[in-house]
Amino acid sequence: MQIGTAESSPGELVTGWLDVTDLPTGTPERLPVLIAEGEEDGPTLWITASIHGNEVTALAAAQDVMREELASKIRGTVVCLPNLNPAGLRRTTRTSYYHGDDPNRYFPDPDADGSRPPRVQELIDERVFEAFADSADALVDLHTAQVGSIPFVIRDRVLHGSAERRSADTGAATPRGTERDEDEARELADELERLADAYDFPVINEYTAEEYMEQNLQRSTAGAALNNAGIPAFTVELGGFEVVEENTREKGVVGLLNVMRELDMLPGEPEPTGLDAPVDFPVKRAVHPHTETAGIVRHRVDAGDTFEGGDVIADIVTPHGEPKATVETDHDGYVVGRYHGVAAYENDPVTSLAVRDDGDLVVPRSQE
Ligand SMILES: [Zn+2]
Repeated sequence: MQIGTAESSPGELVTGWLDVTDLPTGTPERLPVLIAEGEEDGPTLWITASIHGNEVTALAAAQDVMREELASKIRGTVVCLPNLNPAGLRRTTRTSYYHGDDPNRYFPDPDADGSRPPRVQELIDERVFEAFADSADALVDLHTAQVGSIPFVIRDRVLHGSAERRSADTGAATPRGTERDEDEARELADELERLADAYDFPVINEYTAEEYMEQNLQRSTAGAALNNAGIPAFTVELGGFEVVEENTREKGVVGLLNVMRELDMLPGEPEPTGLDAPVDFPVKRAVHPHTETAGIVRHRVDAGDTFEGGDVIADIVTPHGEPKATVETDHDGYVVGRYHGVAAYENDPVTSLAVRDDGDLVVPRSQE
């Protein structure tokens, strides 16, 4: 297998670079590539990390799983791109400086149609997509969430049915392209569940399909791998950002090895991470609750705490510390992380939560 300048060889760990664009200053922008190929044929697992350049625990976990000895132990091949965003890495920032928005929202989507030529981040994402779409049997994309956040896995819903082209003039929708049918979507969702569970972090289902598409998450690394390329793919959130959380990094590596065991690339039983979900019902990710009152946020909960509908999540106080309002939740679930800062404007969310999810994990792409 060849990815950029990295050419795999049985029983070896090789490194190289994947050029993704030319920089105005005369050098290529290139992504580091590592490939570990086993002596025996088997599946190909892709590990990508730190598309948000300040999510350094993700980068460190990706580096650490790609040990010299991995190639002598595995069946099949592991391809690892530990940093998908060198511009963000240079400055320890979430985004690149090509244009300031989220680089993890520009992967190819059959629904995405622009009248202007794609900008450089979209070209880079497309080139990364092309590199994994043909070769990956599974993909794990490593990230981090809020400071103090619990580590978790995000499991996306699998979309089925045609993407639609919406006429700019009339608003009329016509189906385009061929997409998986519902049975294929269920099969893909089952495969995804098997691998996401194998990681042995608490699994949180992604937002509802409507919110997912609204946020362009089908154009994230794992979202496009899953919903466009049909590869079982999920996102891992390894705690907080900007400083490597060593304990979480270590568990992140264990999770990756567990996925290899589940794919029968590595022998042996899965190693428990010891990370258990605080509740025993299915949950989905929720940016919730929001405060209607502007003020200073004083949280009553921390990451990992459970709550029930009606519980107060935070107080909103004046700059003098006097009570102004309370922010309640109307869901059951647990706290994933608290949002940074204490200054809240109207309708700002105060926490990232995992709330009870009764929704289906396989959903039609067009919600009519
Ligand atoms: Zn991220």
